[in-house]
This record gives sequence, C-alpha cells and structure tokens, in this order.
Amino acid sequence: MIDLHTHSTVSDGSYTPTELVVHSSINGIRHLALTDHDTVDGLDEANIASKEHGISLIPGIELSAQWQNRTLHIVGLSIDPTDPSFQTTISEAKRTRADRARLIGARLEKAGVKYAYRLTRELAGTDLLGRLHFAKMLVEQGYAKDFKQVFKRYMVRGKPGYASAEWIDTEAAIKVIHQAGGVAVMAHPARYSLSMGQLRKALRDFKYFGGDAMEVVSGNSHPQEIASMSRLADDYSLSASVGSDFHGPEKPWVKLGRLQTLPINISTVWTVHDLW
Ligand code: AMP
Ligand code: MN
Ligand code: MN
Ligand code: MN
Repeated sequence: MIDLHTHSTVSDGSYTPTELVVHSSINGIRHLALTDHDTVDGLDEANIASKEHGISLIPGIELSAQWQNRTLHIVGLSIDPTDPSFQTTISEAKRTRADRARLIGARLEKAGVKYAYRLTRELAGTDLLGRLHFAKMLVEQGYAKDFKQVFKRYMVRGKPGYASAEWIDTEAAIKVIHQAGGVAVMAHPARYSLSMGQLRKALRDFKYFGGDAMEVVSGNSHPQEIASMSRLADDYSLSASVGSDFHGPEKPWVKLGRLQTLPINISTVWTVHDLW
C-alpha cells in the first residue's frame, strides 16, 4: 500500500511523526510520504521511526501557493529538506502562516470568540497554526457542532475566521521543489471548489510552470471523481499520485492508506520519477 499525502502534529495532524509511522505500518503501508503544511520539521523523527517499522519514507511537504488570487496546495515529494533555497522558502512560508494565524485570532476575537488565539495556540502545541487548529478550538468551545459546520460558518472566505495570506506563487513553489530535487504534485485537485473550466486552467498553468504530477486518488474520492481526475492527468500529461491527506482519527471519513486504486494503465508518479 502507498500513501503519499499525510500530516503529523508538526502541522495540523493529530499523530506525532512516530505515531503516524506506527499506524501506517499497522495499516500495511509500505511507502509513506509525510507532507506537513509548509514545514519539514517532522521528517527527521519520521525517518528514524520508519527504519524501525519497515516503512519506506518519502520526505515531503505540502506548500501553500498562490494561483490567481486563490490558494492551491502543492505537494513536494522526495525533497532534500536541507537545500538552502528551499529552506529560505520554508522560513518565509512559516512566517506567513504565523502572521496569518495572529490575524485569524484577532478577527475571531473581534467576532466574540474569547481568547481565540491563545486557546488555539495551546491546543495546537505549535505556532504554525492552520485553519484546522482554529476549527478544533471552535468546536471544543461549543461555537459549532462539527468540522463541516465550523468551516462553513467561520473558516472560509468572507467569514470571521478567514484571513488571506500572500503565499509563494505557484510557479516559484514548483521551482523550489525542483531545486530541492523533488517532484511537484498538485494536491487534491477536486477539493478547490473550482469549476471544471477553472480547474483545467489551473492544471494547464501548473504543467506549464513545470509541475510533474497530480493526485488522482485522494482521501475520500469516489469512482466517478477518480475517472475524471485520470482523464485530466492524461490531458495535461501529469503523472498520477495517491494520497489520503490523513490528519487523524477525528476526520473518520479519511483513513490512513485506505485508498481507492488507480486505473491500471495510468502513469504513476513513483514509476515516472523513480521514487523508490
Ligand atoms: P490552511 O492550510 O491552514 O488554510 O488550512 C487548510 C486545512 O484545513 C486543510 O489541510 C484541512 O486540514 C482543513 N480543512 C479545510 N477545509 C475543511 C473542511 N471543510 N472540513 C475539515 N477540514 C478542512
Ligand atoms: Mn491540513
Ligand atoms: Mn491541502
Ligand atoms: Mn494535506
């Protein structure tokens, strides 16, 4: 089994890198990529654990990137986290994320959520806060009943818990992943609420900027979505990746490594790029 998109406590996941590796091993995963949002801080720990548990670990990241006033997520696989220009990019991304979190906190406080920043910071155990951390805090404090409701009411554009951020642009994100020796993958293309026309434009640009692959199978993709993503991968000459986007047991609809299979004749990112 293969899972090339997962999160740990270093970003907004709920398992530590070691716990993630242990659960992956229990679930029968052989090839695992840890792809935390805008950070590689979990890779050393995951690497040590992976040797103990017989897993081949692909060092990864999920970079937040700008495309036409929207945010896209670009997964970098098989990156060298020590590459100097890559490290510069990550430090900037971390600063952007930390600054945005202060802004989200302030906006929520203004909307009546007391101690929004402090409570979220405590719950997260990191200052690299994401929207999921704020969402968890809001549910815990009783402002909404579940993730679905909390995102809709608070965490999307136009709502009090949303603040835009100036992420790196998509072309630069792809370049820096390549600079670090990695493969650039468009994460969960079906999850951006883009129309088919806009999604095609995004993929066309992604390919034009040098992007290599796209996730054809994601966490809870259904067969129809997989068919349509396979078609797009073929149309834009992108190889296919598979990743659950696992964050933890509190999103029970996404299981670590439990993924639908790819169509048999599709080019996979691991064969095209010799990932293992
Ligand atoms: P951020 O990168 O901080 O803007 O947050 C994006 C993260 O928020 C994603 O990786 C998910 O973990 C989470 N997320 C976004 N939309 C939803 C949703 N509707 N339900 C649950 N989690 C979501
Ligand atoms: Mn996340
Ligand atoms: Mn994402
Ligand atoms: Mn993700």
